[in-house]
Amino acid sequence: MKSRSVREIVAFCQEIFDDTSFAWAREWKAARPGRKVIGYMPVYVPREIIHAAGMLPLGILGGGADMEVIHGDAYYQSYICRIPRSTIELAVTGKLDFVDGMMFPSICDVIRNLSGIWQLLFKDKYVRYFDAPQNFRDGVGGVFYTRELREFKEGLERLAGREITDGQINDSIGVFNENRRWVNEVYDFRAAAPWKAPSAEVYLLMRAGMVLPPEEHTLLMREYLAAAGAEDRPMRDNCRVLLTGAFCEQPPIQLIKSLEISGCYIVDDDFMLVNRWLLGDVPTDGDPIGNLSQAFLHRSAQTAAKYEPDMAKKGSYLLEAIRRRGADGVIFAAPSFCDPALLDQPMMVSRLEALKIPYITMQYAENSGQMQPIREQSGTFADSIKLWSGA
Ligand code: SF4
Repeated sequence: MKSRSVREIVAFCQEIFDDTSFAWAREWKAARPGRKVIGYMPVYVPREIIHAAGMLPLGILGGGADMEVIHGDAYYQSYICRIPRSTIELAVTGKLDFVDGMMFPSICDVIRNLSGIWQLLFKDKYVRYFDAPQNFRDGVGGVFYTRELREFKEGLERLAGREITDGQINDSIGVFNENRRWVNEVYDFRAAAPWKAPSAEVYLLMRAGMVLPPEEHTLLMREYLAAAGAEDRPMRDNCRVLLTGAFCEQPPIQLIKSLEISGCYIVDDDFMLVNRWLLGDVPTDGDPIGNLSQAFLHRSAQTAAKYEPDMAKKGSYLLEAIRRRGADGVIFAAPSFCDPALLDQPMMVSRLEALKIPYITMQYAENSGQMQPIREQSGTFADSIKLWSGA
């Protein structure tokens, strides 16, 4: 088969991104009788178990910039973040009618409430509020989380009408290990040569992984890396920034483009943490539930989305990412009203200020339309870094 150009691959990803009816997931389901689709919201769920059940994990990241929210506003206050309202809009307008179950990870009260609303609205569907431990000791959080994983597995077994074996979960862990390796390859490639992998492209590539089966997404990333590596693209005089805080409701793609156009190469981000939550490979033999639990407790990413009990360590992951990626500064970009992102921000900012690391803060909604102020803010940020930070 003829390999596709970067432009063709990105156009494919854009098509998936634009399609709020999830045609690819619908086709996957229709291709074989009995197939099931499990939707999940940010930030992290163990997709390995869904995959082992023979089901498709489908990332639901809100309705995006173009969806008009009419029904969703009846369920939530209009001033809170937009993702719960646009997700309800997706559901009540039938765009998720093919989805057999939904998972709501415990990221905040808004998502917790959404899981309750879902149970009231869709009584015949599988709904799981997926609780994650905030205590990372094996004897406390580990016991709790192992039980949570087992309950989740049993729920899917009832839905699938069959047992999910340890061997099947171990195979699926292997599939996601490989997927995560290639996700990390893409991130490393962009950090090394950001002009060759613009962030809007990387973003679309990762969004495709929210819809496609992981095996297909892995092939897509490999194809992209080969095509992007071979393509000559002009290097801009941009500074290098980390973008943090955008782990749940996603910014409009125009915002990501605006940051780069105005002079900021994004060399790391936390857009879709589910892709990168676990660090390194999870063992593919032995007790898979125990292995997934151990990976979550002891080898998972530190972010604003995860509790850090040791105040001295708070924000250390950000400083480490700045060092590792050779970043000149940080953009705190958080959804309006996002408690987890905005409550952490002052503590992160104080760590940066102590080290005189430049930063700016901004807030957005998934349907923010005015990019000129963003461009001016990030453009001025980039200029000030170049003028006064020696970048
Ligand atoms: S954007 Fe923030 S506040 Fe809103 S649902 Fe997501 S984590 Fe919760």
